[in-house]
Formats: sequence, structure tokens, C-alpha cells
Amino acid sequence: MRRLGGDTVTNTPLVCTRCQHPAHPLDWQCTRCQGPLALGQWPAFDPRAVRQEENTLWRYEDLLPVRRNVSLGEGFTPLVRCSISPYGTFWAKLEFLAPTASYKDRGTAILVNHLVAHGVQEVVEDSSGNAGASLAAYAGAAGLRATIFVPAHASAAKKRQIAIFGARLVEVPGPRAAATKACLQAANRGQAVYASHAWNPLFLVGQMTVAWELWEQLGGRAPDAVVCPLGQGGLLLGLWHGFQALKAAGLVRQPPRLYGVQAAACDPIVRAWEAGLAEPVVVTEGRTVAEGVRIAAPVRGREILAVLRASKGGAVRAADEDTLAAQKALAQRGLFVEPTSALALAGLTAVRQHVGHQAEIVVPLTGSGLKALSGEE
Ligand SMILES: [Zn+2]
Repeated sequence: MRRLGGDTVTNTPLVCTRCQHPAHPLDWQCTRCQGPLALGQWPAFDPRAVRQEENTLWRYEDLLPVRRNVSLGEGFTPLVRCSISPYGTFWAKLEFLAPTASYKDRGTAILVNHLVAHGVQEVVEDSSGNAGASLAAYAGAAGLRATIFVPAHASAAKKRQIAIFGARLVEVPGPRAAATKACLQAANRGQAVYASHAWNPLFLVGQMTVAWELWEQLGGRAPDAVVCPLGQGGLLLGLWHGFQALKAAGLVRQPPRLYGVQAAACDPIVRAWEAGLAEPVVVTEGRTVAEGVRIAAPVRGREILAVLRASKGGAVRAADEDTLAAQKALAQRGLFVEPTSALALAGLTAVRQHVGHQAEIVVPLTGSGLKALSGEE
């Protein structure tokens, strides 16, 4: 299974998710219909190709479409059994123990190695904070110039992270969408590649490795359900593709039900889910403590809704007071995560009503509490 040769060029034909038009490896959206891109073929899983001695996501290097030139030791995070009243018993996947303290590092590692293989020297990205901090770190390690556009309301800790990793930090006043607009203007003006965690499908490949790790850590099986915070849907979509690969390999019979939790103040997917729609509902971006999922118009909204349906999962919302209560409950179990991560736990009670109280559920804890201190959003 180990691949021979081809150690620099990424083996990733990209296609449009909407019109199937082929795309260039450095395109960030379809040049014909502006739709988001996908891999022409998602990586397949083969347990014989796993490097058992490698305790990072590069244990799957022979299954991935990129070679490792830059790594900060991302992936292979602990899976911890928790019993927390009133949420019950679940598995917490400690994604906040990543090099930059958020789950984003998996996707960024794959994306940056892809860009490096294609000779990219400069990147731009817009982010509510975590993706920007992650890209700043990997770009710095890879010797790429990076400019990160963040909403001015992003947490001070995340902005500090972006700056100290050596990226140029641009704070954009107004809603989250204003940072995207400023970033796209910069990408269209200069030579920089738009290294978007929302648009680039290589980011999703990194998130697929969460599914593979869960399968390994649970002793060769899938949980009944996984509950994620839901903004751009990178984790949810990556889990889907990862478990589909395990199913295709005959290693799981039934992939887990996938659930997304959104903040009540910004819930375009939940509203669409409740109304049985195929596209997200247009919402106004409300204020919420869960700043990482303050996404009014998810780029891959249509894909997210299709995955929720295909996995027999769903979408639920949580009020900020419930998210903060979940954050406190996790912290008193010794797990200090940011409010965006606690949002998933806040949604767990509603999910249990759907999957049953005996179901085995995984909750990825996506970002460290140190990223959002003292009443910041
Ligand atoms: Zn297209």
C-alpha cells in the first residue's frame, strides 16, 4: 500500500461539487459556477497502511493525497470517557490538544503541505480566529508569507496567536462576513493564494483523520453518533468522508449519525434542517459566545445538510446560557474548552432524545479555553 515515488506533487484532482467542472489544484472555487470544490476521489482507508509507530495524523500518510514536508505533530488526540451531569456519559475527543490548540490544525497541515508542493509562497485567509492562528503557525513553519483577516471582535488571545506566529494580522470591523470580503479583495489583487479552511477541500481531508482515529481508538468500530459544533462544517464533513472510507473498506457496517450544533443567535443550518430544506436559510449574524460558529452563510451549507440527512443525524441549536453552563461543567471535569466547543455538549441533551440514552456518543472538544478568556466573545 505504501506509495512509491511522487513525494512532492499532490495527487488530488479537484472537481466542482455542483457542476463537476474540473479545477486547478490551486483554485479555491469553481471557475465556471463559483461552487465549492471537492476531491475527485476521497482517500480510501486500508488498515494495513497505518504506520503504528507514528503518533500523529501522519500515521495515515500512505493513505493521504499529500506528502509530509511540514508537521507540528498534529493529530492522534486522546479519547477520554466522561460522565458529566446532566449530560450523561460520552467520549470526549481532545482536539484542543493540537499544536495551536484547535482541531483546525489537521486540515491546515494537509492544506499547507499541498500548497508547498505546488510552489506557493504567499497565502491569505479569513477567520474568526482559530483557522487563522492555525494557518499562521503552519505558514510560518513552512516559510510562507501569510496575511490573516479577522473580525475585530475576535478574541484577543487568537489575535495574539496569529501575530506571534509571524503572520500579518488585519482586523476588520463589522460582521464576520466583512473579513471574508476584505480577504477576497486581497487575494484578487496580488499573488497570494486564498488558503481558505471553508473553501479548500484539502482541509476536509485533514478532518477525515478524526474518523480513522476514532475507529482505531474504539477498537475497530464506529460510535453511534458524533456531535460537533457547526459553523463552516469542516469537522462534520471530514467525519463523513472518513467514515465513508471505513465503510467502503468493510470496516464499519453503519457510520455514526452526525449531529451539528449551532448557536441560537446564528443558526442557518438548524433552520433549514427543521424546514426540510436543501440549502441553508439566510440569517442575520447574531452575537454569540460561540464565536467560532458565527457563520451566517456556510460555504458548504448544501453539503452539510445532505450529510446530516444521509447519516440519519440532524442539527440542533443551543442558547448561550446553556453553552456557558456546558463550558463550566466540562471545566469542572478538568477540560477547559472555549465556548464554541462547549456548544456541542450543550446540544447533547437534544441529541440523546433522538439517538436514545444508551447510545455511544463522541463529542470532539475543538478548541482550548485559553483562546477565549474573561468574557470575551
Ligand atoms: Zn461548478
